Amino acid sequence: MVDFDAALRAEVAAITAVDRYRRRRVVEVIDPAAPMYIRVDGRDCVNFCSNDYLGLATHVEVRRAMSAAAERYGAGSGAAHLVTGHSAEHHALEEELAEFVGRERALLFSTGYMANLGVASALLTRGDAVFEDRLNHASLLDAGLASGARFTRYAHADSTELKQELSESRSRRKLVMSDGVFSMDGDVAPLDVLAVLCAQHQAVLMIDDAHGFGVLGQQGQGSVQAAGLASDAVPIYMATLGKALGVSGAFVAGSDALIETLIQKSRTYIYTTATPPAVAAATRAALRLVKKDGWRRERLQQLITRFRKGVQQLGLPLMPSTTAIQPIVLGTENTALAASDALLNAGMLVSAIRPPTVPLGTSRLRVTLSAAHSDSDVDHLIQALEKIFKAVT
Ligand SMILES: *Cc1c(COP(=O)(O)O)cnc(C)c1O
Repeated sequence: MVDFDAALRAEVAAITAVDRYRRRRVVEVIDPAAPMYIRVDGRDCVNFCSNDYLGLATHVEVRRAMSAAAERYGAGSGAAHLVTGHSAEHHALEEELAEFVGRERALLFSTGYMANLGVASALLTRGDAVFEDRLNHASLLDAGLASGARFTRYAHADSTELKQELSESRSRRKLVMSDGVFSMDGDVAPLDVLAVLCAQHQAVLMIDDAHGFGVLGQQGQGSVQAAGLASDAVPIYMATLGKALGVSGAFVAGSDALIETLIQKSRTYIYTTATPPAVAAATRAALRLVKKDGWRRERLQQLITRFRKGVQQLGLPLMPSTTAIQPIVLGTENTALAASDALLNAGMLVSAIRPPTVPLGTSRLRVTLSAAHSDSDVDHLIQALEKIFKAVT
């Protein structure tokens, strides 16, 4: 296998040569009561790239719910949902999620990636059409591509282009898929406009609310509820459980007919082991906290305002994001990497996001904030940014 390995080495070398080499970091939690302080490759730092927006991943009630369910059900589910893997914890979580987002039913998937793939492949086939925002998450784009339907991408949040594409389409079934909150830019999709366009063109709208669920909306029901849209305006609501909910997995919520179809046809639902019941139990505990403790969302909002104000005073280019995702676009891969390295030296972990995750020339620092950060964590980050950018310019 010498030739095979040599070929692979050359591919990795080519990635490295353009500053796109991706490196994993080994992370340890120092104290679960202060989850944003972590040890990364042996060095203590403040985590500014976590999706644990509300600090629930290490919450004592969530941890206890997980341990208690593990004691009772064991570590694993033992089978797929359609065999014997669908535990009472999974079932109760589905009912609670459906009720929370105001839909007839919800269906759990093991990951968000699998949920997106599963929805598109169950609902679309050749002869159908799928329309996606250019900046959609990779899992939505992959889902559209793998579905076999005619695949169209429209410019980011560009309703004029989408309208044009929809009106030209003669496909039998039309599905429009969009992130609710865009994962690399942090902006919210023009949901009301998308809903109107879909209604006008007999298209079905699906929103992936991985970064909105738990954070946006009155009680954390997400971006669709925050936009005041009824269920029939967005027939397919998808969100993940590994971000603001702090656990793992995803769900799709919608009508009874939608969920029945997914159970029968969604290959990423059918042919995989159900997540451990303990994961479902932990998610139920996290959902209770989301509903009960509005202060976490308020706290997060305060920190977002604090961060934006500080960065604007430095004159750094912020994007128009009101969410926990606050990118600072720097341009080349190298600039973003250097800034990220310098921040790590100052004890702040901020990831450098590069192509192909974002378009060429828009490499960026992607700061994510959490209700578990303190004011001084945010102030220290701003001070570190000031030092780094003073040194550069
Ligand atoms: C994280 C994310 C996913 C994938 O969810 P996982 O549960 O991590 O597989 C899907 N869509 C969006 C928009 C995401 O941000």
